[in-house]
Formats: sequence, C-alpha cells, structure tokens
Amino acid sequence: MSKNLLVVEDSKPIASVIKQIAESLKYEVTVATSLAEVEQILQGDQQFFAATIDYSLPDADDGEAIQCVLSHGIPGVVLTGKMDEPTRQKILAQPVIDYIPKENSQAFLYLKRILHWQLTNSQNGILVVDDSASARNHIVELLKRRNFSVYVADNGKSALELLKQQKNIKLIITDLEMPTMDGIELTNEVRKIYNRDQLAIIGISGASNGIHSARFIKNGADDFLRKPFCPEEFYCRITQNIENLSNIEQIQKAANTDYLTDLPNRRSFFQAGEQHIAKYRDKQVPYALAVLDIDFFKKVNDTYGHEAGDHILKVMALYLRKHMRGSLMARLGGEEFAMLFPGIDEDQLYNKLDDLRREIAVAQIAYEDNHIPFTISIGVNFNGEGTLAQQLNQADVALYSAKENGRNQVAIVGGEE
Ligand code: GH3
Ligand code: MG
Ligand code: MG
Ligand code: MG
Repeated sequence: MSKNLLVVEDSKPIASVIKQIAESLKYEVTVATSLAEVEQILQGDQQFFAATIDYSLPDADDGEAIQCVLSHGIPGVVLTGKMDEPTRQKILAQPVIDYIPKENSQAFLYLKRILHWQLTNSQNGILVVDDSASARNHIVELLKRRNFSVYVADNGKSALELLKQQKNIKLIITDLEMPTMDGIELTNEVRKIYNRDQLAIIGISGASNGIHSARFIKNGADDFLRKPFCPEEFYCRITQNIENLSNIEQIQKAANTDYLTDLPNRRSFFQAGEQHIAKYRDKQVPYALAVLDIDFFKKVNDTYGHEAGDHILKVMALYLRKHMRGSLMARLGGEEFAMLFPGIDEDQLYNKLDDLRREIAVAQIAYEDNHIPFTISIGVNFNGEGTLAQQLNQADVALYSAKENGRNQVAIVGGEE
C-alpha cells in the first residue's frame, strides 16, 4: 500500500525533483505551492503519512507552513534556503522530522534517505531505558517523530525482560545511573545474548567527564551521548547505528542467498540444515532430504541459449516455492536444488515430489519466442544417518539411479526396507 506525501514547495523544478524522489520510493505525491493551498488540502479527507515543507512560500515567508502542517499531526521535513542560526533555532523548536538546507544536490540525496527511513523505521524497535520519566519521554518523542517502534523501561532488569519479548528491538538507548540494574550492567548482560552485529547500544549520561563514555564502550556499547544533546546529534547517532546494522544484515543475507533464484544458497543450506536435522532427531520427527537435478540442462542452454537456461532456473525456484512450502530449500549450484522435509511419511513424500515432477514434465516454459519443455530427476534419502553431507551423498546415489533408469523420475533410498 502506498503512502501519501504532501510536498509543500513553490518552486516548480524543486517540487518536481522531490516528486520524482518520493515516487521512486513508492509514495503517492500531492504538491501544494502556497500556504493557502496547504490549508485547503488539509481541510479535505486526504490522510498524509509525511510532508516536505519549504520554509518560505509566497504567502508565508517565515516558516508559517511548518506550524500549519504539524498541527494536523503530519510529520514534516523542512527544506530551507536560509540557514542562519535564528532560523535553525526556530525550526528545531518545533517537532519536525529534520530540516535540510537546500545548498546543493546532497540535500536531495539526504531527503531521499529520510523519506526511505520514514517508511522503514517502524520495523526497527528501539528500547529506551531511563529511570527519569521526563528524560525518557523526551527521547521517546524524538524517536516517534522518526516512526521507530519504541519501547521503554525504567531500569536494566525490566529492559532485559522486554528484550526477551520484543524480537524487533535493534537498538537500546540506556541511561547510566538507575536503580536495580544500571546502564553498564545492562550493557554487559545484553552482550551475553546479542553481539554487535545483531543489536546496537548507545549509552547516555549527564556526567561532564569522559570516563563514563569509555566505560560504556569498554562494556560493549557502540556509542555514547552526553546529556543535554541537541536533536540533530541524537538523530545522527541513531541513524548511523541503525544503518550499520542494516548494512550488516544485507551483507549477511547476500552471502547466504543465490543471486539468480533468490533461494538460500549451498552454504546457507548446510548451516540451517544441520541445525534443523539436530532438532528433528532430538524430537524424533521423521525427515527426508531430496536432491533435484534438471535433466539434460546442457541441451536447454545449447538449444535456447544461456539466458533461457537462467530463466528456467528461476522458474524452477518458483515451482519449489509453490510446491514445497514448509521445507528448507536451496539452489546447491548449477541446475541442482536441495530440499529438507520434516514430519512426512515416505508415501506422502513420494507423492508430493512426483506431483511436482509430473507438473513440470507437461509444462512448456514461455521464453521470448519459445516454449521450452524440461524434466527433472529427484533423489531422496529418507531418515538418513550421519552428517548432512553424508546424507546428501546418499540422496545423490538415489539421484544417479533415477538418471540411469531414464530420468524424469523420483528415486528413494532409506526408510523402511
Ligand atoms: P543430466 O540430465 O545428466 O543432469 O544432464 P545435464 O546436461 O543437465 O548435466 P550436466 O552436468 O552435463 O550439465 C549441466 C549444465 O548446467 C552445464 C552448465 O552449463 C549448466 N549450468 C550450470 N549453471 C548454470 C546457470 O547458472 N545458468 C545456466 N543457464 N546454465 C547453467
Ligand atoms: Mg548433471
Ligand atoms: Mg542436469
Ligand atoms: Mg547437475
């Protein structure tokens, strides 16, 4: 579902740049070129998720539009041509998401990041830990403006409890001195459960010397803020830490994902597979491991071209997603895929895989001007023994016999003899 963005801007070229940026992020854009137009639009039923507000408009040259937009409960980013200290103070005294000096093209890159975060921040939970209600509320208010999911605790102990329940918490902002459990002890405890790739910690203290920041960092915090801080500094630290985590997450995902089909890759299959198998054995759940290989795939490439071959691999991944829900699956490499199924008996499993095989055997995959037929062979190891690698070898033996027997079939080893 797309979100509405109100763009308040009297310059046509600038409005059109902002519109382009916002639409590239899938916002629906409404442009207003004067305060009068803003007032008129806001009287209507249209709901806005956020706004960008030009500081000076023909009929409101001293930021009057900011107050107007914010008073309708719409979070706003201010864009301004003048950046003198009084103007800055005046903007920051109001609950804006941020302000951006329209100095150069960097301003628009920054705006794009802000509009992107505004859409995605709700996935990021931030836990604010402080025994002072007023300090806590101040931080919560700043975070809510940026659309984060916010949680609060008034000491380290209840923070740990909350952390166990709320799995979306990515960042903890913690005060130093608190009753029951202080910020340093909390940091220590959190680091026993989550490492720095998984969760960031920012320590806060009002003490004027630097000793506390060093203590926080040495105990596993990522960053430190000294009270009182200005909103700009606060936001910079928060976004930097959240962006770091999200970069790490993306790198990890890329390292575990096959670029062509978007399925987990071999390495990820081995990691997750070993864990799943240990769990199934522990709970005595029956399971099976299957290896699927496209028949005569070299001929598909030779006849229709490598790109057509790539297309078939992507289609194969879609078939797997559709038919093998609930199983762990991966592209092992080339035209070979693997699946791990829990809680299924041998007949059910055979039927499931043979249905897939038959559906593919009669399908003709459209690619450019061609309709490409292909078949698959599947080898299965039912309730195998040894490591995942050993079980995969067994499944490969079954696959080999399926190929030897004429391809386009399912072969099973193991299970009840
Ligand atoms: P078999 O029935 O015995 O499995 O025959 P096959 O031709 O499928 O097997 P073979 O192992 O001889 O050839 C596999 C082919 O898969 C060769 C290789 O060019 C092709 N292949 C591997 N990875 C990719 C890929 O990412 N894209 C495309 N288009 N082809 C690939
Ligand atoms: Mg082969
Ligand atoms: Mg093959
Ligand atoms: Mg192969």
